[in-house]
Formats: sequence, structure tokens, C-alpha cells
Amino acid sequence: MTRNETQDQTYDVAVVGARCAGSATARLLAARGLRVVVLDRSEPTRDVFSTHGIVRPGVVQLHRWGLLDAVIDSGAPAVRELTVGDPEWERTLPVKARAGVDRLVAPRRYVLDDLLAGAAVEAGAELRTDVSVTELLRDGERVVGVAGRTRGGDPVRVRARHVVGADGLRSSVARLVGAEVTASCTTDLAAQYAYVEGGAWRGYEFHAGHDAYSGVFPTHDDAGCVFVMRPAHLLDERPARGEDRGRAFLDLLGEAAPRLAARVGDDGRVVGRVRSGSRLPNHRRRAHGPGWSLVGDAGYHRDPITGHGISDAFNHAELLAEALGGWLLGGRPERAALAEYEAERDAVSADLFRITRDLATLPHGARFAELQSELGAALDREADELAARPTPPGLAEPVAA
Ligand SMILES: Cc1cc2nc3c(=O)[nH]c(=O)nc-3n(C[C@H](O)[C@H](O)[C@H](O)COP(=O)(O)OP(=O)(O)OC[C@H]3O[C@@H](n4cnc5c(N)ncnc54)[C@H](O)[C@@H]3O)c2cc1C
Repeated sequence: MTRNETQDQTYDVAVVGARCAGSATARLLAARGLRVVVLDRSEPTRDVFSTHGIVRPGVVQLHRWGLLDAVIDSGAPAVRELTVGDPEWERTLPVKARAGVDRLVAPRRYVLDDLLAGAAVEAGAELRTDVSVTELLRDGERVVGVAGRTRGGDPVRVRARHVVGADGLRSSVARLVGAEVTASCTTDLAAQYAYVEGGAWRGYEFHAGHDAYSGVFPTHDDAGCVFVMRPAHLLDERPARGEDRGRAFLDLLGEAAPRLAARVGDDGRVVGRVRSGSRLPNHRRRAHGPGWSLVGDAGYHRDPITGHGISDAFNHAELLAEALGGWLLGGRPERAALAEYEAERDAVSADLFRITRDLATLPHGARFAELQSELGAALDREADELAARPTPPGLAEPVAA
């Protein structure tokens, strides 16, 4: 059987994008017994532009889906402390046991995304990581599949009863269906991040500074994924290149978060590139139409200051799989099931969307502390709500963490 037989088969669902949102959705659909193909133009074992501290709701999902142990076994340290502070003070708290988890985790994306894709395949989904989707197949108004090309230039056509766009911020599926933006706001933040080895990490750290917000997520190989955010007009020049880039980044960290920089110490060194991005969009898009839906960053994007994108992708993947299962297996009308998905997606992300917008202005003092505490409460509520959901059909009940 050749790989291009994909073009002669009809699937229940074709998912475009094989990372946090796409692989999770594909796995949950395949575990229900649906015929699913996942298409991506890149390998999940390749890194992406993103830090990767997973907050509690995302960790709850990994636990409920039976994947948390695999993430820890991959060498991602179990994070048991949180340090918050500013140049004057800092406070370290244990990660409390709540919603079935007592640790956080920040796996490298090429590890996490590979695990998610592997779980999708194990559940029965077909994975193709050499296909760039460029067109949608249509029957009148209805989307009935996708078309594109392999890396080698061969044409690919995949017919499916439904197409899920899980293809990230610059989603081709969203563009091709003309998914309208239903809510948006602008923020003016820029971020730089890098991997630092040799630091004495205490767990996740978040430090407010004057016009700055910085932190670290301890990850594989004893490295810290260290980030600094500042208003874009103060940080939008590209990070220094060559031998100076690491030094320049650590100098920036020293100004923004001296206490965290002290933990990096004289032995700390930047390994690899310093990555940067600025003025990332904040918007929600219409999440469905005849034969299509959007999940993850493709349908909803927010500034990374709240570190919530992976958790959103996991939460919304489950809502979408539930809706598609209700239609394809349960006989609900497609439109009603997907309208409910969109309403739920928007409801569960409403608090974080507002808090992200407000935190991204980097307010000082009491307002900053107030927003941090609202963020903590919103994350706890979401984690509790996720933990109370039944285990998705086809997955084993989670073993207590
Ligand atoms: C600087 C930064 C820092 C961040 N930090 C955090 C953090 O600490 N914690 C957190 O939870 N979140 C964080 N996020 C957010 C998080 O990275 C995203 O929310 C998450 O990656 C969304 O996953 P996704 O599966 O929707 O999209 P993506 O991860 O973008 O995956 C989309 C996939 O679609 C594929 N694709 C795209 N177009 C096509 C096409 N036409 N054909 C085939 N394949 C296609 C791509 O190759 C890619 O593999 C951060 C984001 C940024 C930018």
C-alpha cells in the first residue's frame, strides 16, 4: 500500500495540524472509533516557536488522558514549586494538590508534540507529516476534504466528512473558509526566550519588573526555558546575533528580573538561539461552518503572557471531539453540535482572554497582584471543571497521580 492511497479513501475527519490541538483532537476522535487522518507539513519532532510551561488545566488534561507519566518519563522535571516576585521581594509556594494533580510540567515541544502524535496513531489515527494543505475540497457550500502537496511535490487529495483546522495562528483552513474574527483586542508586548543551562531552578518562576515580566520553566536536560517580556517599543529590535546573543539576553534578564538572573549565576549560559516575537494577536474566530471547524490557535489566539495556549488547545480539543462524536456517532445535527462547541469554547476561555489582555499592559503594583490572583482563581476553576468531566470515550480511566 502506498502512502498516496490516502487520496482514494474517505475519512470521517481530516485534521490539519499535528500538534497540541490537532493530535489531541485526532486521538480523541480515533479513540471513539472514527476514521481519522492527521496531516501536517512538519514533523512533530521539530521544535516550534513557543515556550512551554503548562499550567494546571493542561496538566490535568495530560493526566486525564493518561499521558502525564509519559511526559515525566521523557525527562521533563516534575515542577513542585512556584516562585513569584519583583525586584523587592519574592515568595516560593508549593504546587498544591488540586484537580487530581500535584505537579506541573514544561516538556520541550518536540517531546510533547511527538507524544501526542504517537498517542493519536496508537488510537488508530493515520498520521502524514509530509503534506502541506493548500486547498479545501467542496461540494457546494460544504467542505468535503483537503488538497495539497507532499514535500516531494506530489499532489494529495483527502476526502472526509469533516475537516478540522488545527493548523495554528496562521491557519490555512481559517483563511480558506473565511472564518470571521468574532472578538479581538490589541496588546503591545514583545517576548524573547532562550534555553539556559547551569541555573539553580526552583520550579516555575514569574517576576514582575519595571515594564517587564520574566520567568523560567525548568525543562529537559536541566535547562531552563527563560523568557523576558516587555512592551514592544522597548524590545522589538531583534536579539543580538553571534557570540553576543546569549550575553545580551542574560543582561536583559538581569535588568528585568535581578533575582531570577542571580539564580542563573556565573555558570549559567544560553544554549541555542535567542527567539523573539512581538505584538502577537489576540482574537477568536468563528469556530465552525458546513463541514469544517477550527481548534487551538487556528480559532483562538492570545498573547503568551498567561502561558495558556497549550491548555486551551487541550481543553478545546476535547470539546470539539465531544461535538463531532455527538454528530458523527450520536446522530445530533452537525450544526447544533458545533454551535455548542463554539459557545463552550468561548465561555471557557472568556476569563483568560480578558485577564491576558489586562496583564499584557504590564500594570504595576496592586493591579498586577490583583490580576495574578484572578489568573490563579481562573486556572483553578478551569482545572476543577476539567477534572470533573468524565474520561473521554475510548480512553482508560486515569490512575491517581
Ligand atoms: C512566544 C510564545 C510563547 C508561548 N508560551 C506558551 C507557554 O509557556 N505555555 C503555553 O501553554 N502556551 C504557550 N504558547 C502558546 C502555544 O505555543 C500555542 O497555543 C500552541 O502551540 C497551539 O497549538 P496548536 O496545535 O493550535 O498550533 P501549533 O502548535 O501552531 O501547530 C500547528 C501545526 O499545523 C501545521 N500546519 C500549519 N499550516 C499547515 C498547512 N497548511 N498544512 C499542513 N500543516 C500545517 C504546522 O506545521 C504545525 O505543526 C506560546 C506561544 C508563543 C508564540
